[in-house]
Amino acid sequence: MNVALVTGSSRGIGAACAAALARAGYKVCINCIERMDLAEQLAEQLKDEGHKAICHQADVADAAAVNEMVAHIEREFGPVDLLVNNAGIAIPQQFQDILPETWKRIFDVNLGGCYNTIQAVLPHMLHEHRGCIINMSSIWGQHGASCETAYSSTKHAIIGLSRSLAAELAPSGIRVNCVAPGVIDTDMVQVLGQETLDMLAREQIPLGRLGKAEDIAHTVLYLAEAGYTTGQVIGVDGGFII
Ligand code: NAD
Repeated sequence: MNVALVTGSSRGIGAACAAALARAGYKVCINCIERMDLAEQLAEQLKDEGHKAICHQADVADAAAVNEMVAHIEREFGPVDLLVNNAGIAIPQQFQDILPETWKRIFDVNLGGCYNTIQAVLPHMLHEHRGCIINMSSIWGQHGASCETAYSSTKHAIIGLSRSLAAELAPSGIRVNCVAPGVIDTDMVQVLGQETLDMLAREQIPLGRLGKAEDIAHTVLYLAEAGYTTGQVIGVDGGFII
């Protein structure tokens, strides 16, 4: 493996994954939908350290934009052989308040994004008879989450997608795994407020702290290299779900 695409990697978990992979020797594409300045800053930092990184702004829900991004990576580095589907959105709401367009957007980004990126990189992986796909689920893909029905549904579906695809693609030498983070201290969870986050760390997380983006990156790097592991869901949640 040497060329990695990490979607949603301008900040948070994706940025930590892109940095860890670049530092491990992967040529990395940093992707985001907005705040390209953050993506460019990270790419510059990694290049200053002597690593290889490019940036590409694209909405993973837009298949044409994803295909353009993959073509850009191929021109710069060659075909993608490690795909980390990390881009995701959460819009906490009670079910009866979710508008159809909100429901659709969460599915289009979280699940449709995986479909678009996998379709774009798979032909090369099949041709080479090797490749690695890592999809970001969540503890809410393993358990129900009040006021997160759309998000939780997509994260459950990502586990189904990963297991089914792992079974289908293993004979082609392609591994597919999932990471299920717990509560990780990124922009995404700030909507909960500091008081709730402190309470979660104290009362719900046996290891007594929120996760760090680097905790997830560590597992992504492990899965990227774990040549005999496929179809697995690895929880990284401080013991939230045991
Ligand atoms: P974040 O909100 O901090 O960062 C999200 C990243 O995704 C940003 O770079 C953003 O630009 C990008 N993005 C959003 N929509 C996109 C789109 N349509 N196309 C391309 N890029 C897009 O989020 P995070 O906390 O780092 O979460 C990353 C992933 O981990 C998500 O899939 C999330 O569901 C999952 N996750 C997070 C937590 C947590 O507690 N933070 C827990 C479980 C799972």
